[in-house]
Parts: sequence; structure tokens; C-alpha cells
Amino acid sequence: MKVRVSLGTLIALGLESGVVSGGVYPTTAYILQYSREGCLAKCRFCTQSSSNSGVRRSFLSRIVWPTIDLDLLVNTLSRKRVFKRICYQTVIKSNFVGEALKAISRLKSIGIPISLCTTPIAISYLKLFKSLGVERLGVGLDATTPRVFKDVLKPYTWDTYIKFISKAVEVFGNRMVTVHLIVGLGGSVRETIKTMEYLYSLGAEVALFAYTPVKGVSLRNCMRPELTVYRLLQVVNYLLKQGISPSKYVVESEGSELKLSRQVVSVVGEEELMRALLTSGCPNCNRPYYNESPKGPIYNYPSMSILRKYWDREVEILNKILA
Ligand code: SF4
Repeated sequence: MKVRVSLGTLIALGLESGVVSGGVYPTTAYILQYSREGCLAKCRFCTQSSSNSGVRRSFLSRIVWPTIDLDLLVNTLSRKRVFKRICYQTVIKSNFVGEALKAISRLKSIGIPISLCTTPIAISYLKLFKSLGVERLGVGLDATTPRVFKDVLKPYTWDTYIKFISKAVEVFGNRMVTVHLIVGLGGSVRETIKTMEYLYSLGAEVALFAYTPVKGVSLRNCMRPELTVYRLLQVVNYLLKQGISPSKYVVESEGSELKLSRQVVSVVGEEELMRALLTSGCPNCNRPYYNESPKGPIYNYPSMSILRKYWDREVEILNKILA
């Protein structure tokens, strides 16, 4: 069986030559289901969409994902213990669930935690994936509001995704389902916070992504989000993850722009505030430079050491969102 694997993952395993972007290695092995035509969904922002993207199929976001044989990958992952997690991401194609079940059965033998990232599927399949050893589930809701969901042509409906997320929490447990949201596809900051609060109230967690325009996808009118907006949402996500209601700290400034009350710094402390700027998602998922060039601006810091290098600059940005 063929799979796609992120270039950084392959370099870390010694299966591709080269250096990893910015000198930062992935801490999770990122695997993408192979489809020659791409994904049958029509998401207007996605490089994998078979009908809405003219980008080469080896790309997901700005990252190249070469094709390799799953057996070779499993053997190498078993010998080289360089990752703390495996993430297997599906695409929509004929029999994608059956193929993913086979792939997970093989990956399980490696003995490190597995995350499966999928669009809504039958709950009986979710239970099967769990029994095969999948520890956590990722769900690419991507859109931050039902309106954006329709605009970007996500498959199924908003309600289907929400029901799927609730059911997935029942199967995998509280805080074992990570919902991916892309900031920059549309939706106000207020709407995004509301959706994040709702997802946490369902027992899920949120992983934030910054929209990354790639030439060749059909979405033209969206840009990378403002860094100040992204930082605010990262702090809100961090608070929610810690079980702290952000409503106490999100305040309206003049011009009805949303900011964070300075109190938040003393409540969480500087070290914790730094953690809010790291890549969010499953434990040990750092997705190095998935959304940005190592030259910056960096949306999701893949490690504390990289963040420390840029911390002075980040303090200036944070000061703009603190009231
Ligand atoms: S958060 Fe990371 S490891 Fe978890 S499903 Fe998403 S990409 Fe995979």
C-alpha cells in the first residue's frame, strides 16, 4: 500500500536526504492517505481537492508529501525511534475507510500513540479504529462558522460534523478529539471564540491553523490572518484547554476590537503565555512550518527554543492585544 509522508518526517527517518526547514524536526510522524486523483471533497482552500485545486498532489498546505510504500515506512519507524506519535490523515476516495483500517493495523505494531484524522465516518468504524489502537481523533472542521463552512465548500454539513465530533468524544473520551480550525477563511474573532467555546463544551479540544494561501487552489479572496488576531485566539485556546473561561479576559476596546485584559498575564504567568504560542493539537504534534516559512512570520512555534529566539518580538505583538 502506498502512503504519502511529510518530507520532514522522511528526512528525520533518513528516507530522504536534505535538511529540515529551520533545523526543527517533527516530533510526530505525519502520514497522508495516498490518492492519485486527490480528495473527492471540494474544499476551496485545500491543495488535495481533486476538483478545486490545480496544485500538484504531492502538496498538502505548503509542505511536500512524497509517496512511499507503507511496509518500508513501518519497518523504518520500528527501527528508528525518533517520533513520539504517528498521525494518519485520510482523504475522501473510494474505500478510504477500509484502506485506513488496514494502514492503522500495520502502524499499530510500531507501539507509539496513533492519531487518526478523518472527515465524518460511521460511528461503528470509529469504534473499530479505537479497538485497533487509535488513541486520539483529529477532525478537520476547518471553518469557524456555519457560513464559512458553506462558503469554502466543506463536504457534508456543519451539523453532520458537530454530531460526529460529539459521538467521537463518546467513543474516544473527553479531550481525546482534536478539532482543526483554520483562522483566515472568514468569520469574526468573536464568532471564532464562540465556536471554540462550543467545541470545548462538547468535550473536544481545538488545534489552530493559519490559512496558508497556495497558488493553484480555487480560494482567492482570503489571506493569512493578522498575527495579532492569531495570537489572541491562541491565548483563548490555551485558556480553554486549561479549563479557564476566556470571557473573563476578552474585553472590547475602543472601536469594538477584541483584546485581552492584562490580568491574563498574571493569571497564567509568562512561561504559560509562551506555551500558548506553540503548535496546538495532540500531545507531541509540532507540525514544523506547516503554515509558514521558517523565515516567518511564525504562526505556530514548533518548539520552545525557537520561540525563545523570537520572544522579544512576540512581547511587542502581545502588547498590541493587551488592554
Ligand atoms: S493535532 Fe496533529 S497529531 Fe493530532 S490529528 Fe491534528 S495533525 Fe494529527
